Amino acid sequence: MVHNQIQRNMNLLDFIKTFPNEESCKSHFKKQREQEGVICKQCGNTTHYWHSGKWQWQCKKCSFRTCLKSGSIMECSKVDIRTWYLAMAFMSFSKKTISASELQRQLNHPKYDTIWRLMHKIRTAMGKRDNLYRLEGAIEFDEAYFEKAISQRVQLKRGRGSQRQINVAVMAESTPLEDTVTGEKSNHCRYFKMKVLNHHKMDAVDDLLKESIHEKSILFSDKSTSYVNIADYVETHVSEKSDAQTTKTTLKWVHIAISNAKRTLLGIFHKIKGKYLQLYLDEFCYKLNRRYFGEKLFDRVTLAVAKSYW
Ligand SMILES: [Zn+2]
Repeated sequence: MVHNQIQRNMNLLDFIKTFPNEESCKSHFKKQREQEGVICKQCGNTTHYWHSGKWQWQCKKCSFRTCLKSGSIMECSKVDIRTWYLAMAFMSFSKKTISASELQRQLNHPKYDTIWRLMHKIRTAMGKRDNLYRLEGAIEFDEAYFEKAISQRVQLKRGRGSQRQINVAVMAESTPLEDTVTGEKSNHCRYFKMKVLNHHKMDAVDDLLKESIHEKSILFSDKSTSYVNIADYVETHVSEKSDAQTTKTTLKWVHIAISNAKRTLLGIFHKIKGKYLQLYLDEFCYKLNRRYFGEKLFDRVTLAVAKSYW
């Protein structure tokens, strides 16, 4: 018998069986919130009684009540939990991603805006989850440039060829490996981060490294003047002159990730407005970092959405 090593992703049929109605989604979401830990907004306590009839938790210390959605990324949403679940399902079933208009069509939902906002909230939860981790070990670092969509009015004013680009810092944990027999060099990748650089470049890179990378790391980059301070934030900084060889070896994984991200995002969204790019990158990296999760991916997305953020 041959075992299939790669886990099968949950599909629409499994979803319909497990979550046939609002009640089943609510029960599952309650379980996920309890696994993540329900936090009392008033006193910070984490032990609660459950009022099943009201779908509310009551703080054991101060009696403050927390509704099923309160404090999670679903807070204040009037959309039913099954619609949220369907959105999370479609987003995790597809290897790439799904556009809001396509999801609106699939769900037969009357409002595009509602679906669009809901998807961005799910992406926010994905980004927040990945922000909890810092990269460590050997790390590749480079910048990518994404084309920014600008309004027609601005375009006319500036004339042709005035499309601006958005700088994105791309980082990948990449362990160098050497084949002891052949001496062939390669590297193995683990987690990725992609962050839009918003303000003055040098400061932006400094801030980013502080929050994204463990100080005991070894960082590989090309020789760019904007990276002069990198050595202050990591144990070792190795910079190489950028050439075709660097792209294939030292910075291999960041370059593969950059071209995949561009293909995935631009194929679906054409041009993305600058302020939303980070959210799309958050979804891309979240899925890339969990590429071997298989059917657990959907469950993990519901956990990220269930987390309390107060
Ligand atoms: Zn309390």
